[in-house]
Amino acid sequence: MNRFLFFFLGILIACSGSAFQFPVDYEITVELDPQTHRLQGTEKIRWTNMGGAPTSELWFHLYLNAFAGDRTTFMRGMGKGALRGEHEVERHWGWTQLISLRTEDGADLLSSLTFERPDDGNPEDFTVARVLLRSPVEPGASVTIDLVFEAQLPRVIARTGWAGDFHLMGQWFPKLGVFEEAGHGGRVEAGWNCHQFHPATEFYADFGRYRVQLTVPQNYVVGATGIQVEEKTVSEGTARKRTLTFTADRVHDFAWCAAPAQLMAVIESDFDPGRDVPAPWLERARSLLGLSTAELELPPVHLRLLVPQTQVDLADRMLRGARLAMAWYGLFYGAQPYPQLTLVSPPPGAGEAAGMEYPTFITTGATKLLEYPPVSWLSINEGVTVHEFGHQYFQGMLASNEFEEAWLDEGLNSYADTSCMEAIKNDRLVPDVRISGSWAVKRLSWAFRKSPLRVDREAWTFRTRRDYGAASYSKTALVLKTLEGLVSPPVFARAMRSYVDTWRFRHPTGDDFRRAISESSGEDLGWYFEQALDGDQVVDWSVAAVVQREKTPPGGMMWDGAQWVDRAVEKAASEGDDTSGEPEAWDIHTDILRRGDFWGPVEVMFLFDDGREERQMWDGQDRWVRFEFVSSARLASVAIDPEGVWALEGERKNNYWRDHPDVGAGTHRLWWVTAAMRLMAFAVQPWS
Ligand SMILES: [Zn+2]
Repeated sequence: MNRFLFFFLGILIACSGSAFQFPVDYEITVELDPQTHRLQGTEKIRWTNMGGAPTSELWFHLYLNAFAGDRTTFMRGMGKGALRGEHEVERHWGWTQLISLRTEDGADLLSSLTFERPDDGNPEDFTVARVLLRSPVEPGASVTIDLVFEAQLPRVIARTGWAGDFHLMGQWFPKLGVFEEAGHGGRVEAGWNCHQFHPATEFYADFGRYRVQLTVPQNYVVGATGIQVEEKTVSEGTARKRTLTFTADRVHDFAWCAAPAQLMAVIESDFDPGRDVPAPWLERARSLLGLSTAELELPPVHLRLLVPQTQVDLADRMLRGARLAMAWYGLFYGAQPYPQLTLVSPPPGAGEAAGMEYPTFITTGATKLLEYPPVSWLSINEGVTVHEFGHQYFQGMLASNEFEEAWLDEGLNSYADTSCMEAIKNDRLVPDVRISGSWAVKRLSWAFRKSPLRVDREAWTFRTRRDYGAASYSKTALVLKTLEGLVSPPVFARAMRSYVDTWRFRHPTGDDFRRAISESSGEDLGWYFEQALDGDQVVDWSVAAVVQREKTPPGGMMWDGAQWVDRAVEKAASEGDDTSGEPEAWDIHTDILRRGDFWGPVEVMFLFDDGREERQMWDGQDRWVRFEFVSSARLASVAIDPEGVWALEGERKNNYWRDHPDVGAGTHRLWWVTAAMRLMAFAVQPWS
């Protein structure tokens, strides 16, 4: 990756009456020292065992320790270019230290602490800690612990740390893993799911309630998960500080950023559904989902944007991207329950902080150059904003295990954000944008891959971070786009909606997703998921041969019932009648090949010289099929999958055959040109 990358990139709701009960409550106080980039914090955690078995352990994530030295699992997995942008972490390490850890009755737990390395056994990794409780926590019972910690932020890397005076706090506090029941995700016994931090993994934690008190210098502005409920000014000697309290409910993480007001402006705005839901989108959602306007109604959301003072001219464009994302996801995946979304556009030099999702808090990416053509024609900022907002659904509310099944978050979200960006472009909702990310870009970035990839595997077991990205983002998005075409857009839209509705706040697994989609589409799609997610089969259809022969009378001998008669005699008798020289009919056969090992139904379209069109479905199970015609007109062209249902197919040139290559050629090849142009703008997908 290069230094220009950053450029390209780049509550609560007091849900009163919530039917949900969540396993964890965090009360945190923390103070940031911006000179040393250090955090001093306390935490009170109340954890309820909602599983069916007792446990005598608590497992914690201590993710800042991933940046503690060059032998951690994270740093060892970071080849050159494994992350975006420049990082100078080598000179500015980060770490967390637990200073005390006690149960409510004062019993010390720290002495029992061990570091665990469940994924790779690396003794130099300190990102997962386990402590032993004096007595087990029975199902339904709770334990409360008090913890004191200190954390050193690294120079910004992997969406956490500092750059100059800008501070982004992600994965900054000791956080419990997830205590899973037996049966969840194939687990044999109940137990803690708490993975180490790897370069290609994101996160997984339990839902709960957060109340966080943040102390920063007086002149600092703060953006955070949840909503601000309190503000105090405190004086310590000559120093004046602000203490801000944020609360968030039904979230599984808490992130925040702090920077001097001279560096970052705060812009308050809102998403007003009456004003901000595009009419054509409402109509599309009504017809695809079969829901009424009332059922598609969305609540207003407060928007809070932290933007570099040098980029405030771009604020409207940033907010417009967020509103469009809220409209699209709200219509197709249901209203989100959070009253506020905070967006942070990191300043120049903090590109590693850009393009990341945390509950109700996202970082986007922009550059001053977006104010001027041709950069302003690109949808860089909108694309990142839509993507990161989309995570409020798949990462935020569904919260699948991103270590083990990253595709459930990144892939489903890539499908949704690409659909949204395509609609933004087609409906011309952002006039500035002339070149936009779209399905063509997804297809191209997938088509350029040379090696097959399996989607459904643990994120840290991909050979490279690039492989992880190609499988979890592009391929999964195309898997879903193809499925949308196979089962039909309304059926698929309803299936996705039903999956999101059913699995909110429940950590669905890949099996839950497959079952949900099969059930709501009314057909067993196992055959498809096995190939598309568990397998690395390649989709490749091709026209193998087209043969057109003038239909001639039969020659040789004919059995007339009593004896063999020479047909040449009859033919000579009729020759006098044929004066046109034009054949009366053509014997045509076309062989279609399944070159790839991915099978499934595919449509083949035949166009004849007289304008007649014929379409045939092939179940695609055998390796080839022959279509035969007797026709008065010659065959002019053949197209396999003319509607492009198989978005997963990388090589489409061989899907077409034309009788007269010069006539009308180019229409099928043109997408390469436009898509290549788009790809130049999207050569890298700089977000998470
Ligand atoms: Zn993402």
